[in-house]
Amino acid sequence: MIYLIIWIVLCILIGSLASSKGRSFFGYFLLSAILSPLIGLLILLVSGEAQQKVPPGSQKKCPACAEMIKAEALVCKHCGHHQEKTSEELPGHSENEYSEVKSKSGLDL
Ligand SMILES: [Zn+2]
Repeated sequence: MIYLIIWIVLCILIGSLASSKGRSFFGYFLLSAILSPLIGLLILLVSGEAQQKVPPGSQKKCPACAEMIKAEALVCKHCGHHQEKTSEELPGHSENEYSEVKSKSGLDL
């Protein structure tokens, strides 16, 4: 009986640890209960490390406040700075259009 209580307590520990890492409490609780708290802990540790790795190109640094924001973000969530589209997303028209407008208006800025 005491082993069952220890087992459940360990499962709850794994579950709360998982939820603190932004993962499903019940998912890891059930996983630990069915398989083993040790296996639940191992899976949590392995997947926790994998989550920390940011896929390349998914985030960029805000030029205004130097905080990491999503690459698709148009406005910085930290400071509200409007993000310019990266050169990868634009097919290179902006530079040509800008110089065209400059020459048409006769202004040399
Ligand atoms: Zn910012």
